Amino acid sequence: AVPRTQLDAALLDFAADAGARVVTGWKAVDVTLTGASTAGVVESVTFRRGREERTVRCGTLVLAEGVRSGIARKLGVQWLRGMVHGIAARSYCPTPRGDDPWIHSHLELRDAEGTAQPGYGWIFPLGDATGGSDPKGVNLGCGALSTSKRPAKVNVKKLLTHYADQVRDEWELGEPEDIASALLPMGGAVTRVAGVNWAAVGDTAALVNPLNGEGIDYALESAQDLVEYLPDAARTPRGLADIWPAHLRGRYGDAFSLARRAATLLTMPGLLSAVGPLGFRGPLAPRLMGAATRLMGNLVTPEDRDLTARAWLTAGKLSVGHDRFRHPESRPLFGA
Ligand SMILES: Cc1cc2nc3c(=O)[nH]c(=O)nc-3n(C[C@H](O)[C@H](O)[C@H](O)COP(=O)(O)OP(=O)(O)OC[C@H]3O[C@@H](n4cnc5c(N)ncnc54)[C@H](O)[C@@H]3O)c2cc1C
Repeated sequence: AVPRTQLDAALLDFAADAGARVVTGWKAVDVTLTGASTAGVVESVTFRRGREERTVRCGTLVLAEGVRSGIARKLGVQWLRGMVHGIAARSYCPTPRGDDPWIHSHLELRDAEGTAQPGYGWIFPLGDATGGSDPKGVNLGCGALSTSKRPAKVNVKKLLTHYADQVRDEWELGEPEDIASALLPMGGAVTRVAGVNWAAVGDTAALVNPLNGEGIDYALESAQDLVEYLPDAARTPRGLADIWPAHLRGRYGDAFSLARRAATLLTMPGLLSAVGPLGFRGPLAPRLMGAATRLMGNLVTPEDRDLTARAWLTAGKLSVGHDRFRHPESRPLFGA
């Protein structure tokens, strides 16, 4: 693991080296469209820095605004917050165990009163990523899942401090620093992801895996895929409007639908601590944990033919069918 600022700086350098013109400090505040429909063509984007404003004409607009998607909302991208989503907080903690070779998760989190929480904790050792400083640190955080039926009534920053207290002795931890929290839009739970010359990637398209909270790889992957679709889109009058949601549905639809369903179950406090021991500590633990890691990380591909893969892929298709039947009005998967 590396601190996020390092990853972002490396990505930015990479883009600049590849020829991107990097302009920082400006916020996109508005878009103009041809015609009244948000499915139309974005003509320009207006940026603001302090009192200064500039309007830039637009060929293709990639919406990579993350979870606070102001421009995306103007283009009709609505995040369906009633569906399962995450709330997470992370910190950096000094510890002499910062070069531990493993990442660690705690799936049975309890708050200060000992009540089971619908969430999980993680410790990612940062090794030399902190620049070789001594003591080395870890990224320590926690996340909780929430739905409109079972909102997570938890202060994740407080839960993080409590979690750090629980593992302090084992990790010889210092105080958590730089605590930050944010929402995680998950499982493609947005009403639309594209118009003729614009498309959403990453968190703006709710591309976070509901079963493990990972969104960085999906953000990178979706941006890379989008670039590959641009030549095809330029050849059709509807541009990205149909191609992009169809691609996201094909790539993530089944797995995300099923993962959202499974994650919704995890919002039931106590469920994990009731069934967890069977999976984590029973005689079948090694096999179950192997399967769980594969399923949670969305590492099953349509080419896999083993029993776990076939069961998961079939369940994914059934889950999408159920979504269409249950949520025709909200069109939860990328506008499906
Ligand atoms: C506490 C926490 C821990 C996490 N840990 C992990 C993890 O370990 N692994 C993992 O894979 N995922 C993790 N995630 C999820 C991951 O952070 C996101 O899924 C990922 O950052 C999404 O990338 P993105 O590029 O879509 O959005 P972001 O990373 O949010 O980037 C969006 C960028 O756009 C900028 N922006 C927004 N609006 C505008 C505007 N109008 N004008 C100009 N700029 C704008 C923002 O400032 C920001 O820099 C975590 C999330 C949280 C909250």
